[in-house]
Amino acid sequence: MFDEGGWNKEDDGEALSQALLRPRHRPAQHCTLAPRGSLQKQRRQLLATLQRLEASSCTDPPQSPGPLSGDSESESDSAGRAGRKQPRKQRQGLKPRAASSPGVAPGAPSCSGAPHPGPEAGPAGRRRRKDSAAEAPGDSTPAPSKEQPSRELGAAAGRPVPLLTRKQWRNKQKNKRRQKNKFKAGAGQDVGQGTSALPASELSGVLRARMEERLQSARFRYINQQLYMSSSQEAAQLFQRDPAAFAIYHRGFARQVGRWPENPVHRIIQYLRGRPASLVVADFGCGDCKIATSVRNKVHSFDLVALSPRVTVCDMAKVPLADESVDVTVFCLALMGTNLQEILEEANRVLRPGGTLKVAEVASRFADIRAFVSAVTQLGFQIVSKDLGNPFFYMFDFSKTGQPRAGGSLPGLALRPCLYKKR
Ligand code: SAH
Repeated sequence: MFDEGGWNKEDDGEALSQALLRPRHRPAQHCTLAPRGSLQKQRRQLLATLQRLEASSCTDPPQSPGPLSGDSESESDSAGRAGRKQPRKQRQGLKPRAASSPGVAPGAPSCSGAPHPGPEAGPAGRRRRKDSAAEAPGDSTPAPSKEQPSRELGAAAGRPVPLLTRKQWRNKQKNKRRQKNKFKAGAGQDVGQGTSALPASELSGVLRARMEERLQSARFRYINQQLYMSSSQEAAQLFQRDPAAFAIYHRGFARQVGRWPENPVHRIIQYLRGRPASLVVADFGCGDCKIATSVRNKVHSFDLVALSPRVTVCDMAKVPLADESVDVTVFCLALMGTNLQEILEEANRVLRPGGTLKVAEVASRFADIRAFVSAVTQLGFQIVSKDLGNPFFYMFDFSKTGQPRAGGSLPGLALRPCLYKKR
């Protein structure tokens, strides 16, 4: 049952007996005074006892893995590197006290008398022991474990089994895992996912669709980055040059927000539905006009490109509305552009005094919320409420107190760009 062995060799037995004798006899003074002949006799007796013990240990049931069994985390933690360098059988076959004894030599033959395979008694050896322990009594043909069929079958057939060191075995497992993951990654992300059963003609269609999807994702990330990293005027030019880019951007945007547990635009719609329908609303960066289509209020919808006939195409830093003509201005995930001060000044211009500025923005864009609120305050607003409870987006309500205070730049307005990761 135990093929670890390592207890038979006489030198080893001798060394072990010395190791065992030492600590046991050290405290007793009279032992050091015993005559030399009697000490040798004692040693011989002990050696014989040890050999008997060793023989009987070969028929013992397997031990449960202890701290030195090599399976537990504690092996690597407590024994550390030095522990790993010890031959495997020392840590496995011997009980903790004896195992740490310097007297146990590696490479000793096994109980059966066959040469011990050496450090093999690692995971493979352990597993074999576990398997045999799990067998029903008298079951001589254990079902080969999934992970180790050749070995088990080879052993069952009586063929010599190539044995691996613990390190080799680990590397083999690691390589297997790597191969598996490589295949998975390639299949999952690119082409393989669910396509293996398709005929060739359909497969090429699926592949093309996937490639196009990846291309569109890349374009979305690029356009999104442009919108955050350039001024609103430059963004307007970008879409004038390439109107198709807008559709790509919006598909990507919708997909991203669709992954969130909640879309902030619904909160804003909820808010407006709870207020008088007579309030005039201006939706800056309206996208597909969800607000305008969901409330009874008069809503001015502004964006760089018209996704719907409701949209007034313009740069939101310069909207075609009279001063103090609206009650609520909305920026839902639309504080893009590097000229936010100009954009918020425009919102102030069109708002009537006491009117509401609503901002919903991606949470990760805020490096310093206090600085942001303070900067908006400088533009003629006061904070009414803020909701930082959602991990994806924050919401702020300001009311207009007056004209923007004249002054220099407001670094608190510089929000981080919201860049999406490649998936
Ligand atoms: N508010 C919408 C869409 C948010 S996406 C919603 O929550 O569903 C941000 C929108 O702001 C985009 O449609 C983008 O085109 C628009 N946008 C960005 N910069 C703009 C600018 N300078 N002028 C007008 N719209 C702008």
